[in-house]
Amino acid sequence: MEVERPEQFTNADVILGGGLCGLLLAVELATRLRQSDRKIIVVEATGGEVPRRDLERPFRWLRLLGSEADYNHPTQPCEALAGRQIMWPRGRGWGGSGRINSMIWFPPTETDIANLVDVLREHDGDVPSKLNSALEQAKSWIRPEPARWLSGSGRLFLDAMKDADQCQFAAYDRLNRGGRRWTAWQAVSELLQQNPQAGQGLSFVRADVHSLRIQDGQATDLVWADRSTSRLDDDCQVISCLGTIGSPTLLQRSGHQVTGLGENLHDHLIMPVIHGTDSDILTDDVTDARSLASWQHSGAGRIACNVAECGGLDPDQRWQLHVTPTDYLRFPNSQRRGAMTIGVNVTQPKSRGRIRWTADEMSIETGYWNDSKDRDQLLAGVHWVRELVSRSRLATVLGAETIPGAKRTSDAALIAAMQRYTQTLYHPAGTCALGDVVDSQFKVRGLNNVRMVDASLLPKPTVGNPTATLAMLTCYAANRIA
Ligand SMILES: Cc1cc2nc3c(=O)[nH]c(=O)nc-3n(C[C@H](O)[C@H](O)[C@H](O)COP(=O)(O)OP(=O)(O)OC[C@H]3O[C@@H](n4cnc5c(N)ncnc54)[C@H](O)[C@@H]3O)c2cc1C
Repeated sequence: MEVERPEQFTNADVILGGGLCGLLLAVELATRLRQSDRKIIVVEATGGEVPRRDLERPFRWLRLLGSEADYNHPTQPCEALAGRQIMWPRGRGWGGSGRINSMIWFPPTETDIANLVDVLREHDGDVPSKLNSALEQAKSWIRPEPARWLSGSGRLFLDAMKDADQCQFAAYDRLNRGGRRWTAWQAVSELLQQNPQAGQGLSFVRADVHSLRIQDGQATDLVWADRSTSRLDDDCQVISCLGTIGSPTLLQRSGHQVTGLGENLHDHLIMPVIHGTDSDILTDDVTDARSLASWQHSGAGRIACNVAECGGLDPDQRWQLHVTPTDYLRFPNSQRRGAMTIGVNVTQPKSRGRIRWTADEMSIETGYWNDSKDRDQLLAGVHWVRELVSRSRLATVLGAETIPGAKRTSDAALIAAMQRYTQTLYHPAGTCALGDVVDSQFKVRGLNNVRMVDASLLPKPTVGNPTATLAMLTCYAANRIA
């Protein structure tokens, strides 16, 4: 299965990037192979080894940030956030960012579907129903799981919010299998076991890609990080699934110019509202025999906690909440006391940043709050969280608000706190937007044999967490490409 990188690719779909979209696309294409000698070759970066317990146990995912499995990209200091430099985690190794993410399954909303239909309908009819079928197809690989354990804080929050006006807060479904992290690599394993014939067309290469050599609109060679090359025969196509940062920089390093490349970068920025609680301090280093046995035998118990356990949208879908039974700013490092974090983010930020590759260096400008309406809407979101707390049982059960802090009441003080404490929600996307850089057949504009399928395609932010929408888009793309 895993092969050396070839000197020449012949009669192959060469998928660059073995993350969520790359691997799902590979299994989807493999099941549709019409020519028995056509090959699908997936190339994933080297490295990314981390302890198995950190990968498998949902509760330990925050330990993966900054680890070998995380590119941990530095972004440019952001003036709007008081000059803070925010690090952007992105996953490395088979499964990509799905190896280090917080495993929330959030189904695409009508807005998400509409945003894609807008750009896909140019070359296709009845896109909404095709996207819905693609979502079912994606779910058949992923099979998202209901939460197998909910902390006291999670239960308290959901119970207190039962009567919140038209909000549908719930425990999030998980990208888990039996209480363990699911990555798209599992889809590959399943395909190989259940449909070995389809699996025969697949092979996997571990190598770091630098760029493409391009002549007259045709990618002729793959250039590796050590600058050696592999020839791409005319019957090959390259499909970049290198992600929001990897895909635009691949084209930039290749010298390909297309309007909008690296622009339109969007991300969700989350503001934690933290309260002390009387509950126990939760640690992700669970060692008691009972919890270990419960998780090992039935995938249940504390170890199956994904930290960002529950939440949901307000009725107008302006904000999403993520509730954790921890002090999110300290966890998994030592916490002084029990805490509950209610993180709030604007679902459809208008601000845009960009990624550039110049003089062998990458620069990520996050663009946070370039449009000041995003800041104002986040501020309104913090007020909304305070209102939800004060109008519910939480007001009597929770301790004082520590972040932004009960004493911060004026908008100016709250904005100062937001500048200091907001965090990425890890959803950067949009840098090779569908309709601009990539056409509705998933072809990179100006190139005959290069396509792209990954988070860089999303023209607008997803309303909630993006994996479900991306998995749907990938299965739709497989139908178009096969
Ligand atoms: C910490 C974190 C938490 C998140 N939490 C959630 C969540 O709870 N729910 C949710 O829906 N979404 C979540 N996300 C977002 C979600 O994981 C991503 O949107 C999704 O994985 C993106 O898929 P992708 O295929 O575009 O990119 P990726 O999955 O990142 O795949 C890109 C692949 O390309 C490879 N690659 C890049 N450059 C090269 C190169 N030069 N050579 C070879 N290979 C290369 C990478 O190693 C990687 O495997 C989270 C993300 C992170 C980082």
